[in-house]
Amino acid sequence: MTKGKRRIGVMGGTFDPIHYGHLVAAAEAAEEFRLEQVVFVPAGQPPHKRPETVTDARHRFLMTVLATVANDVFVVSRVDIDRPGPSYTVDTLTELQRLYGPETELYFITGADAMSQILQWKDGESLFEMCHFIAATRPGYSLMTFKKALGPVAQKFKDRIHPLQVPALAISSSDIRHRIRQGRSARYLLPDPVWHYIMKNGLYR
Ligand code: ATP
Ligand code: MG
Repeated sequence: MTKGKRRIGVMGGTFDPIHYGHLVAAAEAAEEFRLEQVVFVPAGQPPHKRPETVTDARHRFLMTVLATVANDVFVVSRVDIDRPGPSYTVDTLTELQRLYGPETELYFITGADAMSQILQWKDGESLFEMCHFIAATRPGYSLMTFKKALGPVAQKFKDRIHPLQVPALAISSSDIRHRIRQGRSARYLLPDPVWHYIMKNGLYR
């Protein structure tokens, strides 16, 4: 952490749909690392998902806005949705750094599961030169899992990788989609307006 620079959190994801896991991780990160803002960036085309399995970006963007509207620290960006082609994190970070300027340090917030795969992302290792990483883990999760996956990179960039414990959150978008498809309830796993939006638009049936 460099003194004097403003710190902005970046929460990338498909948000199909956004849920309390994302929101709690973002809120904890903001508090712990004194982030001025957390920018939620819904992916246009997630590089590792088949396009026909992903909900229209218009819906995912609106649900992200509905979920974050009441929090002054949270904002939603369209940079990935408006950029054609697959949404690579390297491009997201480049664009946000350009928008916020050189006096801003970016903190990319990610689940520890995603953190273990970063070296397979486009320009994997160079991402660590572009931003800090906040790796959200559940209590009891061993940090060794992603340290092992990152190998020597974890040691080389240890000042840029920050683990963050997030309280018990076994919530995932895939589980929520699965529940809705089966006619089970998911309404307490995400904010009410998002739940109503899903019902109103018949998503995930
Ligand atoms: P899916 O189940 O479809 O993969 P997801 O719940 O993982 O969806 P994404 O949009 O893929 O949601 O996740 C965006 C980011 O949020 C990723 O970095 C992911 O690791 C993180 N994340 C997802 N769920 C949680 C959670 N419960 N707690 C903390 N971080 C989470
Ligand atoms: Mg995921």
